[in-house]
This record gives sequence, structure tokens and C-alpha cells, in this order.
Amino acid sequence: MSEAEVFSPGDDVSSSGDMGLVVVGAGGRMGQTLIRAIHDIDGVRLAGAIGRPGSPHIGRDAGEVAGVGLLGVSITDDPLPVFAAAEGVLDFTTPAATVEFAMLSAQARIVHVIGTTGCSEADDEKIRAAARHAVIVKSGNMSFGVNLLAVLVEKAAKALGPDDFDIEILEMHHKHKVDAPSGTALLLGEAAAEGRGIDLASQSVRGRDGHTGARENGTIGFATLRGGSVIGDHSVILAGTGERITLSHHAEDRTIFARGAVKAALWARGRKPGLYSMRDVLGLNE
Ligand code: NAP
Repeated sequence: MSEAEVFSPGDDVSSSGDMGLVVVGAGGRMGQTLIRAIHDIDGVRLAGAIGRPGSPHIGRDAGEVAGVGLLGVSITDDPLPVFAAAEGVLDFTTPAATVEFAMLSAQARIVHVIGTTGCSEADDEKIRAAARHAVIVKSGNMSFGVNLLAVLVEKAAKALGPDDFDIEILEMHHKHKVDAPSGTALLLGEAAAEGRGIDLASQSVRGRDGHTGARENGTIGFATLRGGSVIGDHSVILAGTGERITLSHHAEDRTIFARGAVKAALWARGRKPGLYSMRDVLGLNE
């Protein structure tokens, strides 16, 4: 993959030398995809790889685990010295691990790109506190397509009011996924709520079962499907009387998230501490 495929005109890549990135959760589905992406992309290098204490991957070569051959980087369970010698961390793990890594990244004053989903409000509060010292980019979806979709959803939700159109969000993922609705479904729900000028937390309906009564006007519904090896399918349905609009995204390869995460790290390099989103990285907030 050439540098031109990763950078867009106007991207800030002013810092010199390859950016040293640490992959945490190195043995996971996304961890391995991130190691392969770093290996393929110009301008970044694998500076370390972290696994869960007790993981069978500890001590193994990260490149070998990810299927790209020996890279000379062993997977360790001791993050602090590894963070101290790097410029950024790519983190697709679990909420508990991500909160720990956010504190360590802040201590090491390095960029922290967070793709982990399922964080609670308390987790997010700790991440916001860490962002006072570190540059954090956090998004429930790192792909360009989904972030563009979110912009379209916000516009559609604004144009099509709650008296005429009901908004429902449907998602499907592989059978190993542990949180629901997906971080992407919530990101799209937030975009719809933003367009409508409402608070998602108080207006969302998470699944229906039994005698639920009629649909309440203005709410945003979520439905979750799990099965097989689906990487991520999302549809936002705006249902009116006699017509229906469906805005969809289908992820076919985890590489789209990994490339987005690397792009986020390069964008964040040298920026002021703070909590940023993928829409900031992609210039979709302008
Ligand atoms: P996964 O295969 O289960 O990988 C998670 C990895 O984190 C595992 O290797 C796990 O190790 C490791 N881990 C857990 N606790 C750790 C700790 N304390 N220290 C170091 N490593 C630790 O899951 P996945 O499919 O890659 O997804 C990971 C997360 O990314 C999920 O929240 C998912 O929803 C999210 N995701 C986000 C995006 C996005 O674009 N934002 C895209 C895809 C996925 P063990 O296996 O040894 O427990």
C-alpha cells in the first residue's frame, strides 16, 4: 500500500521520521489486522506489541502472530516501558483495558487511538480525564465510509422530522462480539439524535419484546443481530407513511478500521492534548 492511499491532501504529516506505534491486544482480531496494516503503510513502524497478562501470545513475535513473518518485536504484558519509547498506541481491546491504557498513555504523553467499544459512562469519564494530558482519538468506527454515513444520517434526520419519519437502526456482527448495540450503531444513533436536536440516551429504545405498545414518536430504535463471521453491517432506516429510506454500510474487511486507526495516529501526532473523533480526523466536521 502506498503512502498516497493513506494520506489525503492537507493532512498534517509534518513530524519527521516514521511514527513508532504500539499495538495493544496484539493477538486479537483487530490487533493482528493493525500489525499487518502498520507493516504495509509507509510513515509508521511497529514500536511494540502488548498482550493480556497470561495470554499464550506473550513472548511470541508480533509479526509471526499476525502472519507477516518475524518483525523482531516480542509481545509483552508490561506496557509502560514500551509506551515510553513510542509515539502512539492503537487500542482495540476491552473497556477495562482501554481505561488502563488511557492512563498509561497520558503518563507517557503519547497519542492514544481508541477503537474499543462498549465503554460505560464511567469509563468515558476516565478517558476524558486522560485526554487532558494525551491526544486521544476515540471512535466506535474508524472507517471513512461509516463516518461519512454518519454525516448523511445527521442531515437526513434533520430534514425528515419525527412527525413524518421514524428512525430505526439495525446492525449485524459476527457471533464472537460481546457488546450490543455496536459502537457503530450508537455512533449512527448519536448522529441521528444530533440531527433531530434530541438526547440519544433518553430517546433510544434498545430492542423490543412482548406487548410493547405502539412506537413512541421521536424515539430512535436499535435492533441487534449476531451470527457467523459478519464483520459489520449497519442500516439506518427512516420509515415514513408510504415510503422508506435506508442508509447502509457493509464492512467487508477489518483492514478499513486498521487503516483508519493508523491515519488517526498520524493526524494526532503533534496536536494539543484533547479528545478527538474520527470525524475530526477525516475533516467531516468542517
Ligand atoms: P478480540 O479479538 O477479542 O481482541 C481483543 C484483544 O484484547 C484480545 O487479544 C485480548 O486478549 C486483548 N486484551 C484484553 N484485555 C487486555 C489487556 N488488559 N491487555 C492487553 N490486551 C488485552 O476483539 P476484536 O474483534 O479485535 O475487537 C476488539 C474491540 O474493538 C471491540 O470492542 C470491538 O467492538 C472493537 N472494534 C472497533 C472497531 C472500530 O472501528 N472502532 C472496529 C472493529 C472492532 P485475550 O484474547 O488474551 O483476552
